[in-house]
Order: sequence, then structure tokens, then C-alpha cells
Amino acid sequence: MKNRKLLMIPGPIEFTPEVLAAVGSPTTSHVAPNFIASFGESLERLRELFRSPSGQPFILAGSGTLAMDSAAANLVEPGDRALVVNTGYFSDRFAGILRRYGAEVTEVKARAVGDAPSADEVARALGARSYKLMTITHVDTSTAVRADVRSLAALGRNHGALVVVDGVCSIGGEEFCQDAWGVDLALTASQKAVGVPPGLALIVAGPRAMKAFAARRSAVGSYYSDWTEWLPIMTAYEARTPAYFGTPAVNLVWALNVSLGEILSEGMDARARRHDRLSGAFKAAMAALGLRAVPVRPELYASTLTALYYPASTDARLVGLAAEEGVIVAGGLHPEIRTKYFRVGHMGAVTEADVIATVGAIEKALARSGASVEPGVGLSAAASALRS
Ligand code: PMP
Repeated sequence: MKNRKLLMIPGPIEFTPEVLAAVGSPTTSHVAPNFIASFGESLERLRELFRSPSGQPFILAGSGTLAMDSAAANLVEPGDRALVVNTGYFSDRFAGILRRYGAEVTEVKARAVGDAPSADEVARALGARSYKLMTITHVDTSTAVRADVRSLAALGRNHGALVVVDGVCSIGGEEFCQDAWGVDLALTASQKAVGVPPGLALIVAGPRAMKAFAARRSAVGSYYSDWTEWLPIMTAYEARTPAYFGTPAVNLVWALNVSLGEILSEGMDARARRHDRLSGAFKAAMAALGLRAVPVRPELYASTLTALYYPASTDARLVGLAAEEGVIVAGGLHPEIRTKYFRVGHMGAVTEADVIATVGAIEKALARSGASVEPGVGLSAAASALRS
């Protein structure tokens, strides 16, 4: 009997055996020729992942929060104004990080948990005063709300703001086109749709972001995040020459290059379609089971995860029961509704079989928790969605 459970939280996720083998391969020197080649290729492939031929990629040892920290530290100077399009917990975090580096932050908040600010509200805020930058959380993992980055980025650009996108829960799973959408900086982390164990912060800064960085009047307020130190390192690795500032996470970079190879061979469009299809099937199953989604309108539904309110008959016990049925899902995160909902990630190497297993486990957990659930209703809805 296999004694491991299926990990279906919104990061970290299940990784492919090839990626895990790379993590477990013998560690080389960070200036070994084969590691330099792998790091260099990863940088080139990040441009393809982010769809940003004009961008400057950075690979740093750290989590997604470091990527946010690095974006803020390098782009913000004390007194700069920043606009945060707030769709949940991780937008709150970005506002906090920007303030820490001295930004004067204005937030356009969603009217309710599970909603997103409208384009009109964002346009009004941008029109009221000028901003050095605006941030958008592509998919806020606390609400499973997907923001319309394409439209919002166009608004930001029109008003002269640098557009910064937190793509931690989107890039590699949702459609994202950094250059074509006018995004000046995008960031993610390794452990979600990029498909690599936690520990890498990934950033692609476009030409306008790099220009704003070069035009700084004050020193960057973070020693570790400072691009003054990291830019020569990234340039050197891409030119396949050795360089050192801080030791890279060697094995994770090996694994990143393997995962990026897998992602690009699937193809970015095909990958976004697969996420959309599996997400649609999962959401159809949950609706058939009578569970209500946290995002208030289907246009806001993310493809990388689903957030669902517990039905009246149960509560957070459901997460424990699903684990007993072999599938790990996540509890709530947004402070206003934390105990009222749960989250299921379906990204990266996720398959139809994973979706079916997860639906089955939730269906059974619901029944065990006392909900009146017709056996097979969720599974049947998922199977029908997957057939079409
Ligand atoms: N932004 C979003 C949208 C996230 O989902 C997360 C992690 N869940 C982060 C930022 C922070 O990333 P990390 O936990 O890797 O620091």
C-alpha cells in the first residue's frame, strides 16, 4: 500500500519525479561549468515562462516574500507613492512591504472578501494623483480571486505608473504575458505552478523597472535584495561565466531548469488550457456538491486553486477528514473568513486522476461530517466536465 497522501494545497504542490531527482542529485560547486550552464539556461527560460523577451530575470534563494521584498526594495524610494489593487491577504502583504521601504501607499480594496476592485475604481484612484508604481496580485491565494491583470496593467501604464504583478499563485498556471500586457515587473516563487520545491524567488524586471532602479537617488535599503549586487551575477551566469555574491540554492536551480524544460515543452498556451480545464472540472464537482465558492463571480475564478465555504453541516474538521481520505487540502487564510472556508490547489503537474481523487476524498469527507451528499454526485460532475 502506498502510504503517502496526495498534496493538493495551493503550494507547495506535488512535484515531478524528474524535478525531485534533480533536487537529490549530488551538489556541485556554484561555479562548476555544468551548474553555470544550468543557471544560465534557467535565466533564459524564465523570460519564456514570463513571456518577457525584454525582461531581466533574477533567481534568488528565498521564498516568494523575498521576491516581493526585492521588487519593493529596488523600485521604491522613501516618499514614493504606490497604489495597491487589493484582493486579499497577499495584497495586504505587498502594501506592508512597500510601506516598510518608505512608500506612501494607497489601497483600492475589494468591496467584500472574494471580490476585486473594478477597473473604474482603479482608474479613478490612478486619476486622482500620480503614482510611481502600482501592484496587482494576479491570483490572491487567500481568496482564489484572479485579477484582470491585462486591463489593470493597461490602466497603470496609461497613468505612468510602473506595473508590478505578484504572480506567485499564477505564473506557470494562468495565462500571463508580461511584455504584451505592459507589466514592468513580475515575480513568483518556485513552489507553486513553477513546480519546484520551496526556496527560489523568481523575478523578471522589464526595461522601465530597470531604468527606475538605475535612476535611484538613494541606496537600496536591503543588503540581500539589492540588484546592484545581483545584476552582475545574473549577467555573468547568463554569459556562462562564474560569479559570486551569495551562494545560490544549487540543487533548487538544477531542479528549476528541469521544471522549466518540462513547462516549455508542454507549451505555455497548452499549460494554461490544462489548468483551466482541470480547474473547471473541480469547480463543477464542488458546485454539484453544493459548496459555494469564495470568489463572488465566475469571472473572478482562478485556475490554479479553488476556495470554498464549508457547508452549514461542517467546519474545519472537513480538512482533517479529507486527509484521512488520502488528500491534503488547506484551511482558510483570509483573516475575515479564516475558519469558514478551505482551499484546494490544482496546479503544476496536476492530472485528471489527481482531480478525481480529490473530488472523491472531499465527497466522502463531507458525507462523514454529516452533510447529506448523494454518493458520486461530485465525481459524476467532474467526469462529465472532463469528457467535454
Ligand atoms: N503572494 C502570493 C499570491 C502567495 O500565494 C504567496 C504564498 N502563498 C506569497 C505571495 C508569498 O510567498 P512565500 O510564502 O513563498 O513567501
